[in-house]
Amino acid sequence: MDLRLYDTLTRQKKPFAPIDPHNVRMYVCGPTVYDFAHIGNARPVIVFDVLFRLLRHLHGETHVTYVRNITDVDDKINARAVRDFPNLPLNDAIRQVTEKTTAQFHADVKALGCLPPTYEPRATDFVLPRADGKADMVTLIKQLIARGHAYEAGGEVLFDTVSMPDYGQLSGRKLEDQQAGARVAVEAHKKNPADFVLWKQSSDEEPGWDSPWGRGRPGWHIECSAMSAAYLGEVFDIHGGGLDLIFPHHENEIAQSRCAHGTHAMANIWMHNGFLQVEGEKMSKSLGNFFTINELLADWHGEVLRFNMLKTHYRSPIDWTVSALNESKRELQTWANALENTEGMFRSIGQRATGVLPSPSNAILEAISDDLNTSQMVTELRSIFSRLRSGDPSASVELMQNLEFLGLLRSDQLALLNPYHVGSGGRLASPETKHKLDLLQIAFANGNTALQDKLTLELQKAGVTVSIFENGAVSYEVTGSAIDIDGLIAARAAARARKDFKESDRIRDELAAMGVVLKDGKDASGNPTTMWEIAR
Ligand code: AMP
Ligand code: ZN
Repeated sequence: MDLRLYDTLTRQKKPFAPIDPHNVRMYVCGPTVYDFAHIGNARPVIVFDVLFRLLRHLHGETHVTYVRNITDVDDKINARAVRDFPNLPLNDAIRQVTEKTTAQFHADVKALGCLPPTYEPRATDFVLPRADGKADMVTLIKQLIARGHAYEAGGEVLFDTVSMPDYGQLSGRKLEDQQAGARVAVEAHKKNPADFVLWKQSSDEEPGWDSPWGRGRPGWHIECSAMSAAYLGEVFDIHGGGLDLIFPHHENEIAQSRCAHGTHAMANIWMHNGFLQVEGEKMSKSLGNFFTINELLADWHGEVLRFNMLKTHYRSPIDWTVSALNESKRELQTWANALENTEGMFRSIGQRATGVLPSPSNAILEAISDDLNTSQMVTELRSIFSRLRSGDPSASVELMQNLEFLGLLRSDQLALLNPYHVGSGGRLASPETKHKLDLLQIAFANGNTALQDKLTLELQKAGVTVSIFENGAVSYEVTGSAIDIDGLIAARAAARARKDFKESDRIRDELAAMGVVLKDGKDASGNPTTMWEIAR
């Protein structure tokens, strides 16, 4: 199977020939961790996860190194830290923001069926020279100065773009054009308007590291030059990210890495995903069409979001719509139902637990080997499904293996997309309860235990007892005897107020027997309050 990939630098589809087939090396720019990731950010993560899976299949699980960084130093992070944690010292506040956001990002992309990358370096660990001798930003900047590609001016260290005769190849921007077209006044200390920051000074209110150029912090681009060199070496196979990163970010990564190492290339193939818009418009907070991955995961299975993303070829723009999501859900559900009927056959697959990927069909491999043609891949999945429909006995195992390989369904959780069923002797649920059951099943599927607990409790209050099975199946029973938790808490508060502790303890025990734990506290004005949660 010949893998061909489109290279943004040479503007053509090229056969992929790894530098070292025993260690295929790929770098993808990761998130800046100051806020929840949005659904546009999910696109590169999903697209390059498919490529990672394909490379592992072609070259062997242990012969692919995939690095996706975490940018945890950035002025947007500082601003968020000051806003959200005004009473903490800056460094502690920054750590709170970046740790929380990183954990959320991990949970989000796991629910989207993405494998963890081989390494996930954090920028702040690569600013200063390291004990293990891996590449770092300060050393790279020193190298650039020593080789005549960078200079100190106005308290900053800048890259000298004129020192690199072929600067601008990736984006096709010529230096002369940038000079002629420069609308912004050249900052006085720059030799050339295109020169960009490698190191800048930090005030006492900003995070900083002691360097040969004073206390400061790195520019954005140098981070990726350092972290890619640290794990992948001076020249590696594939570098990826979204279209917006071509200029200036990737252009400047290339300039830094090539000039610091004296190499002809930084990566052999540059790949860029197209942009995602929502219901025909650019996603923006002011238009009210801005969706975080986390928000969407409350309403949709991660598999549905992933499938919907992959229906469009990665280089095309994608229009993200509710009607397309409904269509994707319906199709995956049909497949899952058909596969569930032959579930026994998949027990032997069970590769997920061991991390070994199941084997895909040739037609699927051919589709994705053609520059990740995932729309063709969907066509091939549909044709396997129609073989299943027409009774071909080999088609169900084949469909399952492909879906599992692509991270689109799990053989041990085929009931995840099935509508729940009524427990024996139960009464039918109201439309509102049905909606909650839907959301509960999605929360379970996406591993959101907090949301799952909240919904279970709400249903319990409404007199609905729910069971979720390992395979994702949900059953429920309407008992009719709704538990009035808030009413019981109010009765207990009243008993406490009249010092009837026997009665207040009895109510607490009654709730405990139903799995509801009470937590007493005080509100802002010192009045007693009681919160509740489901016991684990
Ligand atoms: P950022 O955290 O803004 O640096 O973005 C992280 C990744 O998401 C980068 O690879 C961006 O190119 C990509 N990205 C951001 N917005 C979108 C979008 N609307 N559609 C597709 N990719 C995007
Ligand atoms: Zn980068």
